[in-house]
Amino acid sequence: MAGLCESCRHVRVVKAKHGARFYLCRLSATDPLFAKYPRIPVLRCSGYEAGANAGATAEAAGGSGSPGDMPRC
Ligand code: SF4
Repeated sequence: MAGLCESCRHVRVVKAKHGARFYLCRLSATDPLFAKYPRIPVLRCSGYEAGANAGATAEAAGGSGSPGDMPRC
């Protein structure tokens, strides 16, 4: 499980030839505080935005604090 990245609109899943899956955070292209390949599972993230696969993980994204209150991954 990749945690929040799995359902985030900013993720791009990269599949290696040997079958491994890597989660590339596209926010890393414009914000150096986001890792290109975040350590999985990401449980809290200020950049999380629900994407097509969003479900229960959205609740774990942050609660009611402002994005600046949350640690980045
Ligand atoms: S913004 Fe956070 S949750 Fe979304 S892909 Fe990047 S690291 Fe994962």
